[in-house]
Amino acid sequence: MRILRLEHQGQPRYAAKLDDATALLWSDAPWNGGTATAERVSLTAARLLVPVQPSKIVCVGRNYGAHAKELGNEVPSEPLLFLKPPSALCAPEGAILLPTMSARVEHEAELGLVIGKRLHNASPAEALQAICGITCVNDVTARDLQRKDVQFTRAKGFDTFCPVGPHVETEFGDLASIDVIARVNGAVKQRGNTRDMVFPVPVLVAFMSQVMSLEPGDLISTGTPEGVGPLVAGDVVEIEVSGVGTLRNLVR
Ligand code: ZN
Repeated sequence: MRILRLEHQGQPRYAAKLDDATALLWSDAPWNGGTATAERVSLTAARLLVPVQPSKIVCVGRNYGAHAKELGNEVPSEPLLFLKPPSALCAPEGAILLPTMSARVEHEAELGLVIGKRLHNASPAEALQAICGITCVNDVTARDLQRKDVQFTRAKGFDTFCPVGPHVETEFGDLASIDVIARVNGAVKQRGNTRDMVFPVPVLVAFMSQVMSLEPGDLISTGTPEGVGPLVAGDVVEIEVSGVGTLRNLVR
């Protein structure tokens, strides 16, 4: 099932995609206990919203060896966590706004995970069980500010620096064999696979849950493969995750 969020009669609503043109409204997201209604809506003129409303966005740095290396970093001995604020969320087709504070903003294609039930001190098996969906995330980063600041907060936290979507896919297979691709203006810039993660998904989510309780709807971003590069005004950036689809955003 592909869960999205859209504006319907002036209200934000969750819906499940039936086909490219139609969706069925839900009372709420499935991870919030929502259920399907009988009401169908057209997707042709719908404005898509961010498909999640996380209490927090938990991310990991340097989770692919080749990407750690391209930035001159060692692979960490335990997951290197950071947060992006929910105010950074950006809808599918929404504009990524380049901040005046930075001269170097880059794309980071990542597999996103949506938490389906509360996790605290979970084992890897429990963590895997609690993942209710996957999506595409662009962990947009002001690379110059990341190098300048010790903390990642400013570099990763600008408004619009967390595009997510276009929907959450609740049916997924092996999370250790998913392609993660970034394209800028149609040219492939990143092409990785989750099999190359330093810390695989169950280990990563279990580790996070030992630091902070994860709540239903929380978004996890799992790190980016090599090939990160700049975004400039006018670019169209696409993040593709196999089994999900393509998240497309403009840069302004
Ligand atoms: Zn990242």
